[in-house]
Amino acid sequence: MTDLETKNNLAQCFSGVKQQIAKACTQSQKPVQLLAVSKKHPAHKIQQLFELGHARFGENYVQEGVEKVQELNQLDIDWHFIGPIQSNKSRLVAEHFHWVHTIDTLKIARRLNDQRPVDMAPLNVLIQVNISQQESKSGITVSEINELAANISQMENLCLRGLMCIPAPQDDNRLKQEFLAMHEQFETLKKQYPQVDTLSMGMSGDLTLAIECGSTMVRVGSAIFGQRI
Ligand SMILES: *Cc1c(COP(=O)(O)O)cnc(C)c1O
Repeated sequence: MTDLETKNNLAQCFSGVKQQIAKACTQSQKPVQLLAVSKKHPAHKIQQLFELGHARFGENYVQEGVEKVQELNQLDIDWHFIGPIQSNKSRLVAEHFHWVHTIDTLKIARRLNDQRPVDMAPLNVLIQVNISQQESKSGITVSEINELAANISQMENLCLRGLMCIPAPQDDNRLKQEFLAMHEQFETLKKQYPQVDTLSMGMSGDLTLAIECGSTMVRVGSAIFGQRI
């Protein structure tokens, strides 16, 4: 494909996703934010989507993400880190991203807080909840949210903005139960912390259901950028 063809293709997918989001939102809902997940796609595609008016991007892998942040540093992009964080990579995340969706230990929260450069705004963070209770998957249990949230809320260089989940693949009924359970936890957290405003929930395959259950931010990769190589 030529560059123009790729861009037209991207524009079409992007507008399709935006329509799908708009259709799923009820009138009483706040507009749902779209996080374009660009992992495994080259920086020039991010630039193309930016030129189409989108400025919120998510990356999963520290090294790859940091390279793109640096390559595109002329663009006013809001960068979200949405992958697992190993301790030895936390500094790179603290120094390059605006948001982290995957906080699930006090240890990582403390490291990010310590490593956030003082001349940058506080790092916006979401607590990842293992809502499907999958063994050996990232995320804390629902019963652990309170304590981790209380700890994070004391950290000067982090700003607790809400919750995130990646449910197990399963039938729509169970998925809906889990999305609704996440929403309930989110509402509870919001009452305790006024700055909490984000429930990161829903991907290409389930964004409509997630929005119907109260998501405020969907993370969409393949429906915008196509299959990852
Ligand atoms: C890859 C990824 C996405 C996007 O997935 P798609 O199915 O391509 O939309 C969303 N969230 C996380 C955490 C991911 O790793």
